[in-house]
Amino acid sequence: MDAMGSMLYEGKAKKIFAAARPDQVVHYFKDDATAFNAEKRGTIVDKGVVNNRVSERLFTLIEEKGIPTHFLKRLSDREMLTKKVAIVPVEVVVRNLVAGSLAKRLGLRVGDAIEPAIVEFYYKNDALGDPLVNDDHLRLMNVATPGVLRELRELAHKVNAVLKPFFDERKMQLVDFKLEFGLFHNKLILADEISPDTCRFWDMETGESMDKDRFRKDMGKIEEAYQEVLKRVCG
Ligand code: UDP
Repeated sequence: MDAMGSMLYEGKAKKIFAAARPDQVVHYFKDDATAFNAEKRGTIVDKGVVNNRVSERLFTLIEEKGIPTHFLKRLSDREMLTKKVAIVPVEVVVRNLVAGSLAKRLGLRVGDAIEPAIVEFYYKNDALGDPLVNDDHLRLMNVATPGVLRELRELAHKVNAVLKPFFDERKMQLVDFKLEFGLFHNKLILADEISPDTCRFWDMETGESMDKDRFRKDMGKIEEAYQEVLKRVCG
């Protein structure tokens, strides 16, 4: 059945195991938290459980709207079965409001609306610190063709069009988020996770951060924020 095989890869927040079928893998969501290219490390109690469930809900929603994802099913509190993809080493960031590195790099005011939303590409490479890159850089490095980049941008906007109203209804502002895509039988599908680790959410009433920024900036009430996201998304 879904018996877990050997560990194929250990990342900062997840471990990946072989599944019974060669074209599938099992993701195990850890409580380990890192920030600033792993310079800051810590634990967020039950983060793995929250991220697994939140990702399940969001991948299911995105699939329902016709966007293909790697998600197959949640196996347990911390385990998810997915298609096995070849990850495209590009972090695709979508921004609806100014925050984080965008505010810093361009001197823009945090919280200002970005309409229409923008998409940025970061080259996924820990040694280089995931640098911001443009289409030409990715083509130069043979990471992705112009056609693939066009598709990544289109898919990212589509995912935003699904997620933004979903979070609006839950009184959460979807400030920005990071997506990763993979190739499965030569087709680009959404992969990795979508969780408070990879999104910025601001409570619409209070403006408070409900995501990993609480860990990055030592704001306290980190576990509480993750549990509140779980409640609003899956409750
Ligand atoms: N993000 C992520 N992984 C990364 C970098 C960014 O999931 O390695 C997410 C981050 O949580 C935020 C969005 O992408 O929702 C934009 O992040 P930003 O570029 O502002 O970087 P940061 O402030 O994390 O340095």
